[in-house]
Amino acid sequence: MPKRKLAIIGNGMAGAKLLEDLLRHNATRRYHIDVFGDEPTPAYNRVLLGRVLAGDAPDTIGFEPSTAAHGNDVVFHRGVRIDRIDIPKRLLQASDGTMHPYDLTVLATGSKSFIPKIKGAHQSDDKITPGVFAYRTLDDCLLIRSSARPGGNVVILGGGLLGLEAAKIFSDIGMHVTVVHLSSHLMNTQLDHAAAGALMQRIQSMGIFVRCGRTITEIHTDTRTHVNAVTLDDGSYLPAEMVVLACGIRPQIDTAVASGIAVNRAVLVNDTLATQIPGIYAVGECAEHDGKVYGIVAPIFEQTAVLAGVLSGENPTARYKGSRPYTRLKVAGVDVAAMGLLEPELAEDEVIQIAEPRKQSYRKIIVRRDRVIGAMFVGDTTGAAACVQAFDTGTPLPPNRLELFCDPAAGAGVSVDREVCNCKHVALSVIQNAIRNGAATVDAVSACTGAGTGCGSCKSELSRLVSTVRPALVSAVA
Ligand SMILES: Cc1cc2nc3c(=O)[nH]c(=O)nc-3n(C[C@H](O)[C@H](O)[C@H](O)COP(=O)(O)OP(=O)(O)OC[C@H]3O[C@@H](n4cnc5c(N)ncnc54)[C@H](O)[C@@H]3O)c2cc1C
Repeated sequence: MPKRKLAIIGNGMAGAKLLEDLLRHNATRRYHIDVFGDEPTPAYNRVLLGRVLAGDAPDTIGFEPSTAAHGNDVVFHRGVRIDRIDIPKRLLQASDGTMHPYDLTVLATGSKSFIPKIKGAHQSDDKITPGVFAYRTLDDCLLIRSSARPGGNVVILGGGLLGLEAAKIFSDIGMHVTVVHLSSHLMNTQLDHAAAGALMQRIQSMGIFVRCGRTITEIHTDTRTHVNAVTLDDGSYLPAEMVVLACGIRPQIDTAVASGIAVNRAVLVNDTLATQIPGIYAVGECAEHDGKVYGIVAPIFEQTAVLAGVLSGENPTARYKGSRPYTRLKVAGVDVAAMGLLEPELAEDEVIQIAEPRKQSYRKIIVRRDRVIGAMFVGDTTGAAACVQAFDTGTPLPPNRLELFCDPAAGAGVSVDREVCNCKHVALSVIQNAIRNGAATVDAVSACTGAGTGCGSCKSELSRLVSTVRPALVSAVA
């Protein structure tokens, strides 16, 4: 039987992970796979862009699976944007004028940075002012890096995960950094006021200035060519030659819309990740499942696993039932984990909180009918991993809730063999075995188990395991 043509539009994290999952299922037995990406480079791990911002080489964050074993059955079309899908003719129309036939297509077009309409932010309708930067792509990072210099002044709009990550990197370069955040507290979609207060203390102790409850009303430029200051909505004037926008993302749905595929906030998909158009699927940040659009990688990897199972025929009854996402902030020196509700909703909901202001630490768990329905950890993340597992699996908690903060595994009543790397689904026992078998560093553990190669937020835990399991091993041998 001739092979069918499977097209993946978007060579980002969802596209590359889907390809990896398909190849693991030997999908090239059935398909010739074309991957179209409008970025000119091979796929990279977007989560690790901060490393490139901090000076690492772009090739250190590669994310493309090896296709060497699959001959000509996988073809990458780099720097090629698909503008429209001609559904009746089953043709993909690329922006370079070429047309590509397909039998099945997966939209994995991700998101783009939200660029707010601030006075002075745009040079023209589609061009932002030099000195104003988005923080989404490898090109953005290389551009930002070429402008950043010790002693320079940078204002970051957005005090969420991305904005704070960038702030720490600029601060480490020796820049004067101000984070301007519209909400009354940092990371307001993941943290309550008290947790954000502990985070704020830690961020400020790194030398970073934070202005909450404020926004930028104007970006001032020299002779209209380069940024030299911003004005905030309280009238304050901050000299700045760089403004980094980290104030949200929007799903890239232009191709779907131009092709007549149903969208709401993003492309609408069912439990098999299929759109309403037969033969067209969507995964990642461009997909909306059951009213939810996810903006972190763990749920996206769950989607690609289901779609690869269905399309390869290896697991045709696999269904995506939604994810229960959690966030870990990976800024060096600040451990933050958050999941589920921020506040109790029902009178019966229990709240267990431990605030340790002198340690700039705050931990809170919200419980309903013995199950974790929300939690946040700032500073001290002891118990966070077990809490994630209890949250994820709906495991009932022990009567003494405080155990959860003390004994990460046993306290939650969850199995000791919990998942440490939620992106690559690597269990504690696998990591312990790798260390026992000689993996003496975090990199060595990552190389042999895959743990830490997704979002990288479990690396501090890997480091803790390397430093506890190995010495225990050495002393046992001695
Ligand atoms: C700096 C940064 C830090 C992050 N940190 C974390 C973190 O710590 N933890 C976490 O879980 N998540 C994090 N994220 C979010 C994570 O990177 C995204 O959730 C993930 O990349 C989404 O994958 P995606 O494939 O859906 O979209 P993307 O990775 O954006 O990939 C989409 C790709 O499709 C291409 N494309 C779009 N339209 C077309 C078209 N018409 N034709 C061809 N190509 C097209 C785009 O150019 C892009 O290359 C971070 C993101 C950033 C920017």
